Amino acid sequence: MLLLCVAVLGLTGSSLSAAVPPRAAAGSRNKLLLISFDGFRWDYDQDVDTPKLDKMARDGVRAEYVTPPFLTITSPAHFTLLTGRYIENHGVIHNMWFNTTTQEKKQYYQTQFVDSYWDNGSLPIWITAQRQGLKAGSLHFPGTAATYRRETVEVRQVEPFLYDHSNETDWRRNIDKVIGEWFHQQDLDFVSLYFGEPDLVGHKYGPNSPERREMVKQVDRTVGYLRDKIQEHGLTDRLNIIITADHGMTTVLRGGTVEEIILSKIPGFSFKDIKFHLVDYGPAGMLLPKEGMLEKVYQALKGSHPHLHVYKKEEMPARLHYGNHPRLLPIILFADPGYVINGFFPVQFHKGEHGFDNQVLDMKPFFRVVGPDFKKNLVVPPFETVNVYPLMCHLLGINPEVNDGHLDNTKDMLAPKKIKRGLNDLSPVVVGITAVTVFLVVVFIMTTSYAGCKRNQAESRFNMDRTSGDFGEEKTDIKQSSF
Ligand SMILES: [Zn+2]
Repeated sequence: MLLLCVAVLGLTGSSLSAAVPPRAAAGSRNKLLLISFDGFRWDYDQDVDTPKLDKMARDGVRAEYVTPPFLTITSPAHFTLLTGRYIENHGVIHNMWFNTTTQEKKQYYQTQFVDSYWDNGSLPIWITAQRQGLKAGSLHFPGTAATYRRETVEVRQVEPFLYDHSNETDWRRNIDKVIGEWFHQQDLDFVSLYFGEPDLVGHKYGPNSPERREMVKQVDRTVGYLRDKIQEHGLTDRLNIIITADHGMTTVLRGGTVEEIILSKIPGFSFKDIKFHLVDYGPAGMLLPKEGMLEKVYQALKGSHPHLHVYKKEEMPARLHYGNHPRLLPIILFADPGYVINGFFPVQFHKGEHGFDNQVLDMKPFFRVVGPDFKKNLVVPPFETVNVYPLMCHLLGINPEVNDGHLDNTKDMLAPKKIKRGLNDLSPVVVGITAVTVFLVVVFIMTTSYAGCKRNQAESRFNMDRTSGDFGEEKTDIKQSSF
């Protein structure tokens, strides 16, 4: 019966691990490295020879692509990776910090240091991991410089102003630091690592340019260098790697047949009616009309250009999750793929842009994983990047904060766990079955023992009585009941 009990446990345990592998326990936890190559579109490896990325795909899992949050720009999309929340829920709504009263605006780099902009109710995974006893680090990842609830990521490197984000020698130096110093020497559990390319070449030369293809080769060499370093430090079997990006890139349309979106030229629209605006920043913009002017501004812009979408923030399509945060301005604009929104006259001359609707295929990033907790040579269907956070928490064995993702959307990538588990790791169903089985075993043992005991008592008394030669009434009854 005890053997049966063990067999029942083993059976339910193995079927359980096939459905959802248990979260990593402290003893079995592997390390985790999250890497972002900014603006690496899902299909960037399809027109370039990428032997190292191909090898990584064979050794691990790749998604066809992933869907970033809207607005598909750098700081908001990276903060979604770190928190598992849509942008309207984590509140880092733009790359730029702004104040509608003073008209002040801070660009991407300066915004990294505005704590209140980032520390807005959602904790990035570094802080959650540290609070649960893990050691976390971050190199250049958006959000690294900020303080959250008086805590920062304990090991960090913030890039200097005017940092050269494209230098391959520097990339290798950063990898040496993360793998050699942080993971190997300092025994960190989790690190996020950011590279600013191929976003910059994508903007400057366009996603279909030879310069972009060359940069993808640089990314490929870097992935090879990274995996070699991991091997050198004996971390291959203890370190999971997730490589992804914040958004994709698409070609900006220009030329004679393209009617550019220039707000000041739209009949009935005037910047005199606007208190604050955030335009000339790619394909999306926001407007704060002066008091009493909202309807006029809205009516002037709505339907004014075939490739311009105009919404009051409360009318934003729910699927975009970009209409429900106090920082969002009352009117939100975004353009169709290839178009950018200009204020007074064209000032944007990028050949490539992002920031478009996250349903646009060109906005989708790539996603690759490899490591001891992942299956091998597997391609999985697309999923939203809000789901990366619960996956990371699962791998690290930490309790996630409230988030918009779910492990169900990524669990097929996980290899079945082969670890010993305590009762705490088992589902209530298994615990219930186990308890009932143990109870039945105990009842069975007690019943059979009691009956056997009574029989032995009776037999020994009968034998004793026979020896003494005393056959009384009682012994007769016992004899009868015994036969
Ligand atoms: Zn970016």
